[in-house]
Amino acid sequence: MNIILLGPPGAGKGTQAKRLVERHGMRQLSTGDMLRAAVKAETPTGLRVKAVMEAGELVSDEIVSALISDELEAMGKDIGAIFDGYPRTAEQARSLDDILSAHGRKLDSVIELEVNEDALVERITGRFTCAKCGQGYHDKFERPKVEGVCDKCGSTEFKRRPDDNEETVRTRMAEYRAKTAPILPIYEARGIVSRVDGMADIDVVTAEIEKILGY
Ligand code: ADP
Ligand code: AMP
Repeated sequence: MNIILLGPPGAGKGTQAKRLVERHGMRQLSTGDMLRAAVKAETPTGLRVKAVMEAGELVSDEIVSALISDELEAMGKDIGAIFDGYPRTAEQARSLDDILSAHGRKLDSVIELEVNEDALVERITGRFTCAKCGQGYHDKFERPKVEGVCDKCGSTEFKRRPDDNEETVRTRMAEYRAKTAPILPIYEARGIVSRVDGMADIDVVTAEIEKILGY
């Protein structure tokens, strides 16, 4: 199964993708995570994209599509892919079709997480992750069970993204509205789009997605 989780920054794509990975053995392909890893490792790609990401603007289509293609190349054919944060432009949507067919895969489902934009700034400015295992948390909505200790790996170190500030979030939302939301009709025409209320509790959102995917 190959699915896209679509929604503005902070909609809950990463949170839900990680749950599908844990419960159903799928693989999360997050271009944001791949780009952050490249920035951290100071690869040529990382050095090129750092300032663009910090400004909340979109990285070039060629760079992200190459990352996705390489990742699928390295993946077993029987492992389901969850595209998280990709595609973000019509050009990326076209590339994804080509990349999938080159790997003998097809897109089964596009799940749009519908959220109230006013809530997104609070979600994003409160977001943090475990520095060791990447488990996601939120200051208000998803705190670790024991204060300061990661539920999943026990680490006591956490980090926040440099682009998770209010000003950058506004740019990221504008980018989503202008360039990403317009790709939905491409998938609607294929009859593969489902909508989920992303304002519901995290567990409820997961249950809705699992229902759509037939789990
Ligand atoms: P995205 O990957 O779409 O940018 P995340 O999955 O990182 O978004 O979620 C953003 C923040 O909001 C995280 O801190 C996460 O814990 C929190 N969050 C995710 N889903 C929900 C939800 N349904 N209700 C409340 N908070 C949520
Ligand atoms: P995300 O982790 O999905 O919130 O992405 C963080 C940042 O990485 C974005 O604001 C963009 O600068 C960049 N990025 C991630 N995925 C893409 C993509 N598919 N296309 C262009 N830029 C991307």
